Amino acid sequence: VTEAEWLTCDAVPPLLEYLIGRASDRKFRLFACAFCRRTWDALADERCRGAVCLAERYADGEASEAEMEDARQAMAVACQDLALRPGSSASQSWAWGAARAALFDTAFWKPNAASQGAVGVARLADEAAWRARGEPGPGVETTAQLALLRDVFENPYRPGWVDPAWLAWREGTIPCLAEAIYAERAFDRLPILGDVLEEAGCRDADLLTHCHQPGEHFRGCWAVDLLLGKE
Ligand SMILES: [Zn+2]
Repeated sequence: VTEAEWLTCDAVPPLLEYLIGRASDRKFRLFACAFCRRTWDALADERCRGAVCLAERYADGEASEAEMEDARQAMAVACQDLALRPGSSASQSWAWGAARAALFDTAFWKPNAASQGAVGVARLADEAAWRARGEPGPGVETTAQLALLRDVFENPYRPGWVDPAWLAWREGTIPCLAEAIYAERAFDRLPILGDVLEEAGCRDADLLTHCHQPGEHFRGCWAVDLLLGKE
């Protein structure tokens, strides 16, 4: 994948394949969780939503392997329940499968598990999303998914750079704001972060544009991660 292809590619799988070995397990897992959050309505079961929230915490080192194993077992039962439940939709079963897959084993157990798992979740969530909208097939959904992918994974040809002066500016206003956005999923505050960065002397067009860009951002957003030093 060249930089031009990264910017213009209109399919998710080749970009994900390219990122394997280049991006962290954390990014892949958060990417998978963001996909699940796109079908949140279909995951209206505490076990499913809980599984996605747990996988996000696990990605940030805030949940144990034992908690993950418990959630995996709960999701296996949940998926069986759903299959037996009258009136459950195909969209739901794909979405639940995606939530289950977001708990995939750690890289410790299986090399490349996180990246391969993310590829699997992307496929399952994709099916869930277009079926939920009653569309005849994938396609419309792809644009939104590409935006999500480019939110979590920064352009590998333009790795971001942070000037320590931005972080120190006004007693750490910028890292504080970024931390609050991350913790509270308050991505609607990104334009404020962009304004403050500019005030602090940032002239990085990619970073400023990303902060001011309308549209969805997810936990793992590369701009927020960059300022928090997360990979
Ligand atoms: Zn973002």
